[in-house]
Amino acid sequence: MEKDILVRMQEDLERALKRPADKRRWAMLLDTRKCTTCSACTVACASENKLPPAQWYRPVWEEELGSYPKIQRISLPRPCMQCDKPPCVTACPVKGPDGATWKETKGIGAGIVPINYAKCIGCAKCVPACPYGARFIDSGRFHTDGTPELMKYEKGRAFEYGKVLVREGKNQPVGNARKCHFCQHRLANGMLPQCITSCVCRMGYFGDESDPESLIAQTIAANKAKLQVLKKGAGTLPRVYYLGNADLSIFNKHLKA
Ligand code: SF4
Repeated sequence: MEKDILVRMQEDLERALKRPADKRRWAMLLDTRKCTTCSACTVACASENKLPPAQWYRPVWEEELGSYPKIQRISLPRPCMQCDKPPCVTACPVKGPDGATWKETKGIGAGIVPINYAKCIGCAKCVPACPYGARFIDSGRFHTDGTPELMKYEKGRAFEYGKVLVREGKNQPVGNARKCHFCQHRLANGMLPQCITSCVCRMGYFGDESDPESLIAQTIAANKAKLQVLKKGAGTLPRVYYLGNADLSIFNKHLKA
């Protein structure tokens, strides 16, 4: 019997974590043909990272193609692309190796674009700079605001970037820029990103693209001609690839012009 792809990717991850950072290339591939728009990934991510209401790291967008009776609905999850040329980093005024956001080159997070909440000044310049709408400023709101009781789990701990995060007080995300980080804290603990683990359709692939034994590298190699990235013309060199029958430019209306 063939292994479930999650089991295979877990094995790939364990191998990847033993490789030096400069030999590893984290990447994600999303097969839109398998997505059912259940949004389990969106919700699991919000729970994992304690996101404010209506502010998502990984929304799932839907578009319709064709006309009756030949209609097709296409769903597209949109995480941060962890661009190799990230305009969000260029736009950030808090520069330098100890800045607010940068393209990581070392450690588990090499290749990921993180945010340091202790350095971010909440100026929001990175938000419109991202062509994918992947960044937002944490509103400070809670899902149970306005109800008889603010639920304790809303103020519970999250672990982004390996730090304890509580969404209140100094050096915390409220009022600062936020975005998907491929669940760097989970990778550091030998776990796949939450969106990949929670996808009931197994539409997400994650791993070290530079390991030829990995499922993601083999899936990329087998589908090279069919791979797409969002807004290729933006020149940001995304590390999130898409597979599917539809031309993804139908989603450009969700993206910055
Ligand atoms: Fe930055 Fe947007 Fe690229 Fe993510 S998708 S690295 S937020 S420009």
